[in-house]
Amino acid sequence: MVQLISHATKTLHIRPNGRSADYITPNFIYGCAGGCRNTYCYVMRNNYKTIYINENIDEIIKTIEIHLSTLSDKIPNQTDDKYWTYDIGCSTDVSLHWKHTNWIKVFDFFKSHPRAKATFATKYVNNKMLEFNPDNKIRLRFSLMPQSISEILEPKTSSIQDRIEAINTFINAGYEVHLNFSPIVAYPKWLEDYAVLFKELNNNIDNKYKPLIKAECIFLTHNTAQHERNILNGYTNSENLIWKPEVQEDKVSEYGGKALRYKGYIKKDFIRRWLALHQSILPWNNIRYIF
Ligand code: SF4
Repeated sequence: MVQLISHATKTLHIRPNGRSADYITPNFIYGCAGGCRNTYCYVMRNNYKTIYINENIDEIIKTIEIHLSTLSDKIPNQTDDKYWTYDIGCSTDVSLHWKHTNWIKVFDFFKSHPRAKATFATKYVNNKMLEFNPDNKIRLRFSLMPQSISEILEPKTSSIQDRIEAINTFINAGYEVHLNFSPIVAYPKWLEDYAVLFKELNNNIDNKYKPLIKAECIFLTHNTAQHERNILNGYTNSENLIWKPEVQEDKVSEYGGKALRYKGYIKKDFIRRWLALHQSILPWNNIRYIF
């Protein structure tokens, strides 16, 4: 059972990132009840039992505002050409935990700030968010994987079809939308399933929106302690997909945590094959980064 705790966070650091965004904000919420908490979610490596609702939103926003005041003019990069980008949902799912904090206040700050844009990845379609028009200053990254493994690895999240259909809807409503292919998991017939996913995207996304949509692509990482907990809790089907020691190796993540990833030479081959397929079906979809 996950426990909800409301408190004021003292952790008010802004971390440089350079991948999903230029920076990661202090957590508005730290923890998540998402369907992937018992499979691959990296947040669960450090915080499995509790969802901390950080009530001092004004203090967090002030921290971001001060940080922005120290930055020079935005230098165009893969995160954005015009705005400094901040990931506001690195340790939770904003759409899922919509009711647990005043996200409208956070969205409003970014909407009205002349130099900043917020972004977060999500596995949930939350139509309540459509009541707010962020004027393209909030970027949603819909997380995507083949439906057949989403059912095993992300039970009770929005279906992949619903996420795909939401892309047009959210762009219409004023959100910027990118694709978050994460985690990319290799298994027998994975590329056949990805071909189906890519075709669904190509068929469903409105042609006029295609030039606006970019993608980030992140291959699976896992963690030994997390694997052991998942097995103890009986999640063998999902572990059969993501625990593959014969093709995985240890790595130290960007922020110092221990993780397992596909072995370098194997991943290089996976990337080459996945990219070739992607380019053959979604040539309009610019990839911001893949690793
Ligand atoms: S939705 Fe995201 S943060 Fe929540 S459990 Fe899944 S991967 Fe983790």
